[in-house]
Amino acid sequence: MSIKVEHLTKSYGQQVALNDLSFSIAKGEIVGFLGPNGAGKSTLMKILTTYLKADEGMALVNGYHVETEARLVQKSIGYLPEHNPLYLEMYVKEYMQFNAEVYKVPKHRIDEVLDQIGLSPEAHKKIGQLSKGYRQRVGLAAALLHNPEVLILDEPTTGLDPNQLLEIRKLIRDIGKDKTILLSTHIMKEVEAVCDRVLIINKGSLVADKKLSDLREAKEQIIEVEFDYRVEEAFLQKLPHVTFVKNTVGFVYEITFSHSKDMRPVVFDFAHDNQLKTLQLSRKNKNLESLFTELTSTP
Ligand code: ADP
Repeated sequence: MSIKVEHLTKSYGQQVALNDLSFSIAKGEIVGFLGPNGAGKSTLMKILTTYLKADEGMALVNGYHVETEARLVQKSIGYLPEHNPLYLEMYVKEYMQFNAEVYKVPKHRIDEVLDQIGLSPEAHKKIGQLSKGYRQRVGLAAALLHNPEVLILDEPTTGLDPNQLLEIRKLIRDIGKDKTILLSTHIMKEVEAVCDRVLIINKGSLVADKKLSDLREAKEQIIEVEFDYRVEEAFLQKLPHVTFVKNTVGFVYEITFSHSKDMRPVVFDFAHDNQLKTLQLSRKNKNLESLFTELTSTP
């Protein structure tokens, strides 16, 4: 396992930021850590990168314990913080040389990494002259310099224009071919574009852990139905393959089925058998967006 988190809990005074969080990430996975603002994403990343101590639970990175083997964890991790701090007066290559000295990395890695990140043509420019997208590449290059096993990226595309965004996402996917990546974001499209798997966090707790391929195959569907009278949710829950029922408004219900066959006829027959009229009936596939809304909206 590249990352293993068990029962991690962290509070700031009265404010619970992480609440009994457990998951693991295998080598080579690109995992999106998705949650609304304040969900606890940065707190988790700070614990994994050894900047912050958890109150309870434990975390391993590349097999090393974040508290007792912090140095080895730091060697295993490349970290791109949300507000990527750069020295704007420095030249790209100079900045890389500076990082190589600090982290005692052999000089030949500098050109290797600049090449990999597509920065060689910019190597002799000042960081301050670069576009935001290229500055983000400089941050990524610095994070990769010591050839870490694991990359942790905090909101890596914040503030980029649409073209820069596509380029950085492509670059992350390329890097992910031989690294484990955990990236935090509040943007669902980012997860769909880049990740193999998504962990959804809300109010410090893990509320979903899904493979993107499962979500794409649309194994789950939501039927929205309006009857002419009230029905107990527990009654609808008894229909075959139902995983979730929600009375959204009036006599309108959203029923989630875990089945690939169209379940509308089943709902229609249910209404008929129970002397209910079906006023409307529609089906949509459950995607990341509907999952996220269902799991993170506060009633
Ligand atoms: P996210 O990165 O998902 O936006 P954070 O991990 O930054 O979430 O924050 C989780 C919760 O902890 C939020 O309620 C936030 O207000 C609170 N929090 C974060 N940092 C601090 C801090 N230094 N002091 C007090 N509360 C904090």
